Amino acid sequence: MGKVGVKLAVGCALAACVVASVMVGRRVRRKRAWRRVVRVLEELEEGCATQVGRLRQVVDAMAVEMHAGLVSEGGSKLKMLLTFVHNLPSGNEKGTYYALDLGGTNFRILRVRLGDQRSAIIGHDVDRQPIPQHLMTGTSEELFDFIASSLKDFVEREESVSEPSQNERRELGFTFSFPVKQTSSSSGILIKWTKGFVIEDMVGRDVSECLQQAISRKGLDMRVNVLINDTVGTLALGHYHDEDTVVAVIIGTGTNACYLERADAIIKCQGLLTTLGDMVVNMEWGNFWSSHLPRTSYDIDLDADSPNPNDQGFEKMISGMYLGDIVRRVILRMSEELDVFGPVSSKLQVPFILRTPLMAAMHEDDTPDLTEVAKILRDTLEFPDVPLNVRKLIVRVCDVVTRRAARLAAAGIIGILKKIGRDGSGGIARGKNEGASRSKMSRTVVAVEGGLYTNYTLFREYLNEAMSQILGEEIAPSVIIKVMEDGSGIGAALLAASHSTSSVDTIQIP
Ligand code: ADP
Ligand code: MG
Repeated sequence: MGKVGVKLAVGCALAACVVASVMVGRRVRRKRAWRRVVRVLEELEEGCATQVGRLRQVVDAMAVEMHAGLVSEGGSKLKMLLTFVHNLPSGNEKGTYYALDLGGTNFRILRVRLGDQRSAIIGHDVDRQPIPQHLMTGTSEELFDFIASSLKDFVEREESVSEPSQNERRELGFTFSFPVKQTSSSSGILIKWTKGFVIEDMVGRDVSECLQQAISRKGLDMRVNVLINDTVGTLALGHYHDEDTVVAVIIGTGTNACYLERADAIIKCQGLLTTLGDMVVNMEWGNFWSSHLPRTSYDIDLDADSPNPNDQGFEKMISGMYLGDIVRRVILRMSEELDVFGPVSSKLQVPFILRTPLMAAMHEDDTPDLTEVAKILRDTLEFPDVPLNVRKLIVRVCDVVTRRAARLAAAGIIGILKKIGRDGSGGIARGKNEGASRSKMSRTVVAVEGGLYTNYTLFREYLNEAMSQILGEEIAPSVIIKVMEDGSGIGAALLAASHSTSSVDTIQIP
């Protein structure tokens, strides 16, 4: 080999060394970055831990807070609102009734025909429409005019093709799923907005009256004769089908629960109520808080960035409005550590871009190479080529976030059961003798409604699993969860029917 050849060979060897060391360096850096990303996942898992012992602490905290909220106004983050609904539908209701369900992403208008035999809902027709975004932050008149004109169109359409209603005047049950301070079963004042609605002029006003006025403006002959929350509608439908239904839970865009309470346990209005017996209490459990809830930095940031910081803490860990965004925040954190995502996608910075149904679709992707995950990452977050190992990691993130949500919801439900002495432990406010009859567990049905629970199989499975774990083998079979499809709407029509002729008590709570 000549001199030139030697130089060339040395040069090549040197270049190879440089390339090799660059590659090794890159591999080492990537390995380190990978380890940091895995660490992000591990920290998330630790932060979201919901072992049974911790869930039991949440159960106890829920029961204690319920009690505190019933003792005095403002006694707890749980508002424990009175509904003035004493009697749930009996099964003897008859006639045709309308319902309007305004809850979050959609509103629904229903027409329900009732026979006079138990379980005889002869039929119901539903019109479902999204609420235009601009109406969520406009004025109350704009929102209610839009709703009333949809209602009028629906009534005209329905009545043109079916026999006219036998009722003298059309009657409507209004499901309004935001915190309301009821003054009777047909009127109430909006306390605050949640779930992204901000219509300032509505706060402090009578919700029923706003709707009634809009209905009159449209020239529609219809009376709003019951104002309820979606949980109460769900309880009403549950009870209509099965008298053992005493608790209802919504797990959709938001989350809330109500249950049947003894009137004498509602200490904050003792002496004020004209009716004894039971009353449905709307817990507004989305605002529940306890130091036992497993909270991460992602929850803290999500809360701080929300329009209602320090509010709805339980809801922000559980409901469909938020789960996708918690996952987005974790992926954003991971993408800052690992360059396989490429330069941090600007899409990933957009709050709520990863909606919960998309997150659920990634979580439930059962293709071997996670093609659905790849598709969502590409189409929604603009990550064109995420390797399989990273896609697997993202599925794990979805799993951790959803599992925590479902298990906390289960603990919340059992907290209610504990408060009313139906969890097998005797309850916190019961006598000794009642507590002793552990073995004689009465059957309890919990009515559940909401898109997150009904559409998200893994969420449902995690919730049911946690219920069994907390209650234990002996008690678990006596607690039955029943899905009430369209419960919030049909239940409102049922209550409109049962409140059609009954006298209604009214009080002013100081
Ligand atoms: P609302 O709570 O507005 O009355 P729904 O009960 O229908 O409405 O719940 C809708 C919510 O349920 C959505 O905002 C979404 O978060 C969640 N959801 C709907 N479909 C799915 C799905 N396939 N997987 C997971 N979550 C879903
Ligand atoms: Mg709803």
